[in-house]
Amino acid sequence: MCGIVGYSGKQNSSKIVLEGLKTLEYRGYDSWGIAVQDKNQIKIFKEIGEIKTKLSMLPLPKTSCAIGHTRWATHGGVTMTNAHPHISTTKDFILAQNGIVENYSTLKKMLEKKKYTFKTQTDTEVIVRLIEQQTKKDETFRDSVRKAFNMLEGRNTIIVLDSKEDNHIIAVKNGSPLALGIGKDELFLASDALAFTKYTKDVVFFDNLDLIEIKGNKFKIYDSKTGKEKKYKITKLNSKVEDISKGKYDHFMLKEILEQQDTILKAVNYKLDDLKPLIDIIKKAKRIYITGAGTAGFASGQIAYYLRTISNIDVLDVRPYDFASYFPILKKDDLIIAVSQSGETADTIEVLEYAKELGCTIASIINVEGSTIHRMSDLPYLIHAGPEICVASTKVFTSQCVFGYLLAKSMVGEYTGAREEVESLSSGLREYFTEKVFNHIKKLVRSIKNRNHFFILGKEQNSYIALEGALKIKEISYKHFEGFSAGELKHGVIALIEKGTPVFTIISDDMCSKDLLSATEEVRARGAYTVGVGDSKFRKEECFNFFLPVVKSKELSALSNVVVFQLLSYFLAFSLGNSVDKPRNLAKSVTVK
Ligand code: GLU
Repeated sequence: MCGIVGYSGKQNSSKIVLEGLKTLEYRGYDSWGIAVQDKNQIKIFKEIGEIKTKLSMLPLPKTSCAIGHTRWATHGGVTMTNAHPHISTTKDFILAQNGIVENYSTLKKMLEKKKYTFKTQTDTEVIVRLIEQQTKKDETFRDSVRKAFNMLEGRNTIIVLDSKEDNHIIAVKNGSPLALGIGKDELFLASDALAFTKYTKDVVFFDNLDLIEIKGNKFKIYDSKTGKEKKYKITKLNSKVEDISKGKYDHFMLKEILEQQDTILKAVNYKLDDLKPLIDIIKKAKRIYITGAGTAGFASGQIAYYLRTISNIDVLDVRPYDFASYFPILKKDDLIIAVSQSGETADTIEVLEYAKELGCTIASIINVEGSTIHRMSDLPYLIHAGPEICVASTKVFTSQCVFGYLLAKSMVGEYTGAREEVESLSSGLREYFTEKVFNHIKKLVRSIKNRNHFFILGKEQNSYIALEGALKIKEISYKHFEGFSAGELKHGVIALIEKGTPVFTIISDDMCSKDLLSATEEVRARGAYTVGVGDSKFRKEECFNFFLPVVKSKELSALSNVVVFQLLSYFLAFSLGNSVDKPRNLAKSVTVK
């Protein structure tokens, strides 16, 4: 969470940093700030909330060196005082952090005893004071930053702008992401390379505990523990300069939902030979784990379902934040498949770090090239969905699921059939996305938008779809939507059904349909307003008060069902006047625990 940007070069630094922060705003939008170096002085601009100020309105001088930060608050409220970057008492350096200083309270007490004072409530100010303390002892500013950083516990990446030397920036990475872009006579630093790929594709990705020192258009990398200089590798990014505009749409979310007709095809654009190394490992591994959090967690569950039911592979689907209890039984011959959009999910990375140490093989299904999980993986598979800007994930979910489906089918010699099935879903979606369908969903939205509690029933292939559907709607409509397996209904949830409670039933043409129709009858008998989502053959069933038919698909109907919930979520949030792309309290990549 939070985005960091730095720039040193011939262009107007505030322009580059502002542009970069806008690109990284998906990482946090509680507040933002820019600091520029201006003739050995530091000038700062900060604001609460989303970035609304345009470059022409920015009261900052044109200079060649700046840093910036967009915040997702962890410690201290969303206030101007707590907004980053944070300046030193002497005003000769300024700092921003991505992450959490886990021992900040101990450090703060230690510093207070030494008469250092604090103006903010953030954990970050502790780093500023630690550097101040160090500058009294060390010969170089680099050493002061390095030694102060070494006192921190947690996953944090910092960027520091020094006013005493021209175009001098120092950054240290641990846990949270950081990339350096090398342009012609200019250098970029950012939490996500997307912030500068418009200018350069030559990127250096860092290991944890790397310290980067920029002086003008030169840079050096050091080991922050020892202070010794390190070699680095320049990676040329393959991805084309991605479109990160809303195009003709009002929101990224709708654009990204509609893109799924293409993105699911890109996700399966792998030759059978590309999948072979993963298939071989799956066959050889003692035990296979799949892990992901949030929407990626539900994609993990769906992929495990495909591997289980299509290829008879036993895959243990475990959430990364609950993985520690499996550590004692994890063995080096095990395979871990990590599922993540950003490739930076802190909980997932922590599991992978442990597994890597043990010698397990790591495969991943991710969207961001060069991300930490990408680089940690022995077998990384990119799903090539393009930047997903809306915080609520849509296209990445379906892309990860179709990749899992292709993998499962390929394991039983049905690679070609799988590709055809995805192609058929893609053309189905192309025809499905029409005003007529949207109006039908909007009609339902009008009748349910004032209710506050909703339930979604699914079963087997649609169990995770019920969870993902509910999550999607919770995230941006702020309504209480609960998804669960229909089998759970009579074990408790049915007690919550009142007259008019909307209950959605996801129904595919499969062996569960009879059970789902019975479950729907049962909630209807208790006064629920029932909505069917699924195969149109059930549209006339009496138990449904309303029906939302989906694209027909033989084996991927679960994914055509999820698309309806994405659209429902979008239209519901829109009609409620919510911030669709940047919902309250959330950020897209969860890089803190
Ligand atoms: N812990 C810091 C704060 O709350 C940084 C959070 C972030 O990564 O945005 O200010």
